[in-house]
Amino acid sequence: MGTGRSADVIVVGAGTSGCYFAWRLAQAGLRVLVLEKRRLVELGQEIDIFHMDEVRFDQFGLAHPEGEELLGYHPTGLAWSPDLQVQNPVDYGFYVMHKPAFERRMHRYVQEAGGEILEEVEVVEPVVEAGRVTGVRARQNGQLSELRASIVADASGIDGVVRTRLPRELGVETDTISDDAALFVCLEFRDDLEEGLPTGLNFYPYHKAFWNPSRGSGAILGIGQPSSYDYAWEKHRAWREEYFGDPGRVVKRTQGRTPYRRSPFSLVANGFLVLGDAAFQTKPFSGEGVTSSFTACQIAAEVVTAALEGGDVRRETLWPYNVRYFRDQGAKFASMFVQLPAAAELSRHEVDYLFHHDLIFSSEEFRQMNLNYATEMSLGQTLSLAGKLVWGVVTGRFSSASFGRLLKASTTAGQIRKHYEAFPEDPAQFEAWVAGAKPLWGEA
Ligand SMILES: Cc1cc2nc3c(=O)[nH]c(=O)nc-3n(C[C@H](O)[C@H](O)[C@H](O)COP(=O)(O)OP(=O)(O)OC[C@H]3O[C@@H](n4cnc5c(N)ncnc54)[C@H](O)[C@@H]3O)c2cc1C
Repeated sequence: MGTGRSADVIVVGAGTSGCYFAWRLAQAGLRVLVLEKRRLVELGQEIDIFHMDEVRFDQFGLAHPEGEELLGYHPTGLAWSPDLQVQNPVDYGFYVMHKPAFERRMHRYVQEAGGEILEEVEVVEPVVEAGRVTGVRARQNGQLSELRASIVADASGIDGVVRTRLPRELGVETDTISDDAALFVCLEFRDDLEEGLPTGLNFYPYHKAFWNPSRGSGAILGIGQPSSYDYAWEKHRAWREEYFGDPGRVVKRTQGRTPYRRSPFSLVANGFLVLGDAAFQTKPFSGEGVTSSFTACQIAAEVVTAALEGGDVRRETLWPYNVRYFRDQGAKFASMFVQLPAAAELSRHEVDYLFHHDLIFSSEEFRQMNLNYATEMSLGQTLSLAGKLVWGVVTGRFSSASFGRLLKASTTAGQIRKHYEAFPEDPAQFEAWVAGAKPLWGEA
């Protein structure tokens, strides 16, 4: 590798976010260098099978999956009530895909567009000079070297290796993710399943669990829970035993973490930006993050291309990435992150009540959430929802405490969305904006 190498942009991490971003930059004619600490052939192997929404392929200019990448396609899924008596069909297509094959495709895209990927190069820290990120220190075969770039992009996943090592005065939060702010995702692959078990995509919102297709007639029984793998596996076991017993044969178990918290208030600094899991851009309702991070990558690639054309990589010039991300997807995600904890605290009977009365967990709500990251309700629908919830309280099927929590969360969610939609165009207004955002997040 050797000290002294340079590029227009160094991207740290050759996961899906880093590669999508690097691909777009290489297409724009920039010199892009992606640094990946693992061997490229290993990437995606631990997750093995994952899901991508069909609509996002056209949105992000990607060919739809085929061949070794494609394991299945499901135009609808089912959302199940805890008592299993209601199954709401959700018309929203997902591909079931082989993650290592998709990662390989992304690597190919980068390389064919003229970008370079170096594997087994571990970035250790940023190089910062005169208040600007000017490169990274990286280790390869035990040797440390410095690599220089006009812009360094941190796409290193949940632990954000560059972001967390920035000097604080650069204006990006540097805190590491806590266990309570991550979802511990546990997947159990099962084959030789008996007749009568679910098929296709199945979602159990009360348990934060799913039963999805694997290879052939196999299934993946998955769950995402906060705190720890032990806690998540215990919840997984309880859910599986209650509903399905011990079906078929366990082929393998895998696990991993995905961020479940608000993004840093700013994603840019002088010569720096952060993307994907490193920027906590996962979907609040599922913890999935591949396509939601492409939104950010697409914006960031346009902003970086313009900045480099103008030869100016200051925070002010990269700022439009913040503005465009937070005013749209960021605002919707912030709103959901405020609202969902109140829904997660509902009792099993309350969730059943909502399913049985087509409230909050309806087919259309799930479809809208997947498609638009928000549910748009008319005044009439809002009034009907409120009326039915009040009726639930009056008849003792919905607690007044839960009703109060939902109402409060929904009010704060509306306020926080408006606040993010007014993310300041002028970085000079940022501190005042953060001071307004913190109380809405319940932060001091
Ligand atoms: C079990 C599980 C199942 C999931 N299923 C889905 C799903 O079905 N659909 C979906 O959309 N999302 C899913 N997700 C979430 C999804 O995997 C992530 O949101 C997505 O992979 C984020 O991509 P990324 O490129 O930002 O980060 P990553 O995929 O984590 O990539 C970061 C890369 O940076 C590299 N790196 C880290 N540190 C360094 C360093 N110091 N130097 C150099 N390189 C470094 C890593 O090796 C890695 O290759 C799942 C997550 C888990 C844990």
